[in-house]
Amino acid sequence: MIYIHIPFCESKCLYCDFNSYDGIDHLKASYADALQDEIVKSENIFDIVETIYIGGGTPLLIGAEKIQLVLKTVKKTFDGAKEAEISIEANPESINPGDLLKLRESGVNRISLGFQSLSDRNLSLLGRIHDSNKAVQSYLLAREAGYENINIDMIYGIPGQSLKDWEEELEQVIDIGPEHLSLYPLSIDEGTPLKKMVDDGRINDIDEDNQAEMMEATASKLLKYRPRGGYRHYEISNYAIDGYDCSHNLNYWSCSDYLGFGAGAHSHRQGRRWWNVDDPVDYVERLGLGSKPVAGEERLTIESRVAESIFLGLRMMRGADIDRIEERFEVNILKMYESEIKSLIDDGLIEIGNNLKLTKKGEIFANQAMLAFV
Ligand code: SF4
Repeated sequence: MIYIHIPFCESKCLYCDFNSYDGIDHLKASYADALQDEIVKSENIFDIVETIYIGGGTPLLIGAEKIQLVLKTVKKTFDGAKEAEISIEANPESINPGDLLKLRESGVNRISLGFQSLSDRNLSLLGRIHDSNKAVQSYLLAREAGYENINIDMIYGIPGQSLKDWEEELEQVIDIGPEHLSLYPLSIDEGTPLKKMVDDGRINDIDEDNQAEMMEATASKLLKYRPRGGYRHYEISNYAIDGYDCSHNLNYWSCSDYLGFGAGAHSHRQGRRWWNVDDPVDYVERLGLGSKPVAGEERLTIESRVAESIFLGLRMMRGADIDRIEERFEVNILKMYESEIKSLIDDGLIEIGNNLKLTKKGEIFANQAMLAFV
């Protein structure tokens, strides 16, 4: 699988701690060139590229034509990339019919729309630059352009948002009918403007009990949805109509190898992990000088790969595959983590069937369960 990072944003959202930047428009052309350069020079580690994911940032800010060029380069460089699931993240204000068609012509077959909320009050508190109308319009535009696999990203547990408010937003988004929903609790991270607003007492901090209640209400509402066979809860924060799970993320949670291109992108191959410089200026300059943009690398131990396989496996509702982990690493996790597993079972957080998986209670306290293996 391949990840392509495009870190341009029109303005920084108040909660955002991703590797994304505003005010770097002058880099758009050179960044697209640098991406193609990095892709062409990369080692081809795949027979088949099952998925390509273009994330950001707001990828479309560099222009659909540049994304077309980048995808053309990927397909030329990696023979097995012709039939891939190709996803792109898009923010509601960044799309137009012409660009959507160009992307489809280039093979993009899945679009992930960053609604984040359908309440203008919440969108403004989060520092998003679109409103709820624009969000719905962007979805309709994507449908008109022929996209049949659409994800919508939403955030819940926003300060001041009640359970009823969230349920209403959720109902609106369900009515729209996307194939896939990614629903994340808000986290307020150090260094973000939102954290400062909390520290200054201008807004309340997040209420974890409130978020837990919203998480339970989300599952109960979505699992009652019947059209098209209903949504399946396949990962802690992700729901999909049958056949529309995000293959890219499933591969990632299954600890497959991946190549990441762009500023700050990470790659992994058989226990070697490496990552690029975060700064897009540095990234462009290094490639311009004919150097690699790699900032660092590490060799993962078997123990840490096993721990990561459990940690990420527990995110999925099917759980961590005990036999597959044993096949890959020759380690029986039931023996290796005997006391941790016993204590989590006693606390009612995990259960063992074919796989090791979270219980309903474990879904709410997922971090506690997953951290036991790190
Ligand atoms: S659009 Fe996404 S990446 Fe850009 S600032 Fe907002 S949250 Fe961050």
